[in-house]
Amino acid sequence: MMNIALFGPPGAGKGTQSKMLLEKYNLTYIATGDMLRTEIAEGSELGLLARSVIDRGQLVSDEIIVQMIEKKISTNPDTKGFLFDGFPRTVVQAYILEGLLLKMNTSLNSVLSLEVPEEELVRRLVERGKTSGRSDDTPEVIQLRLREYYDKTEPVAGYYRDLGIYTPIRGIGAIEEIEHRLDEAIVSSLKNTWLNVVLAGPPGAGKGTQSAMLAEKFNLVHIATGDVLRKALAEGNELGLQAKPYMERGEMVPDEIVIRLIEKQMMHHQHARGFLFDGFPINIVQAYILDGMLKKMDSSLACMINLQVPTLESINRLLQRGKTSAATSCDANAEIILKRLLEYETQIKKVDSYYISQKKFIPIEGIGPIEEINDRLSRQIEEAFKGIR
Ligand code: AMP
Repeated sequence: MMNIALFGPPGAGKGTQSKMLLEKYNLTYIATGDMLRTEIAEGSELGLLARSVIDRGQLVSDEIIVQMIEKKISTNPDTKGFLFDGFPRTVVQAYILEGLLLKMNTSLNSVLSLEVPEEELVRRLVERGKTSGRSDDTPEVIQLRLREYYDKTEPVAGYYRDLGIYTPIRGIGAIEEIEHRLDEAIVSSLKNTWLNVVLAGPPGAGKGTQSAMLAEKFNLVHIATGDVLRKALAEGNELGLQAKPYMERGEMVPDEIVIRLIEKQMMHHQHARGFLFDGFPINIVQAYILDGMLKKMDSSLACMINLQVPTLESINRLLQRGKTSAATSCDANAEIILKRLLEYETQIKKVDSYYISQKKFIPIEGIGPIEEINDRLSRQIEEAFKGIR
């Protein structure tokens, strides 16, 4: 899940910018001010309670706010995430939000603060008052709301600054320019929360099948080196042409080419929840390369899951596959299969120790029905998600 809070004084443009963010990231909108206005319009008991407080420019009680948010959260259990606008407005509400998100095994990823000078805020709000029909958009109440903001809400910034998830954004200029600044901030905060996992295992371990299932289930981008190379080859682009002679000879494609292709693929999916690498790294050099690549993108690897299958089982599966249409040229005969397995075993031992020493190595039994193996792997991915803010 991706949870964002738009922060800033009244008139900073939170409502306006929310529209773009909601559309682009497919989030559920939690705008406490809007929710209160709906309650008032409906004449509900809660609305009656809130009305006089709002008209005095003060903050509505936490009980009312929590009730409304809980309702919204519980009616959207399958959401991709939440966009909060106008909440949290006090440090106490910031704690409340931690608790609400913790209940869903998630947390706030980013607080984006729209910064606008006070004169401009007043100008915007007075202008809005001419058409908004909001009883709190009058010059007197605007002053009260701003005081309430500087007294109670501004200190919340420090709370999130300490957590390292606070980004100030210049809130003046054309709407599209501000949109662009917000989007850039989201992309860079997402990189910190990408979940990057390597799924390793011998040829025939079921990495392809399992990676595709996991990517779908957890909304991760599946990066299968073989597929990426075949796609480049089919497209006939520059990198594809460079890789072609190696692939035709059945040799390893040089790292320079592989890295550029993987990097391109990742840059293309910057808004991803994370990446699942399948077929990379297959040697120690590539393990170093992957760390370097992720570091360059302000990210890191969460873990390496090694799908363990006994050699005889691998041989058997590859021989079976060799008889079907899913066969790749390397599954053709026992001699080639043995060569691949031998090559794998020599290289992977060093890769395993690399991740063991970093405490990122997770061996998983790769024998059994596909769904059972998938459950085992899913549990590990869920664990890994918990390690990320
Ligand atoms: P807004 O639409 O965000 O400008 O909110 C309008 C008014 O609703 C505020 O001035 C407050 O009186 C009330 N309100 C909105 N959100 C909250 C909140 N999180 N906590 C307390 N009061 C709120």
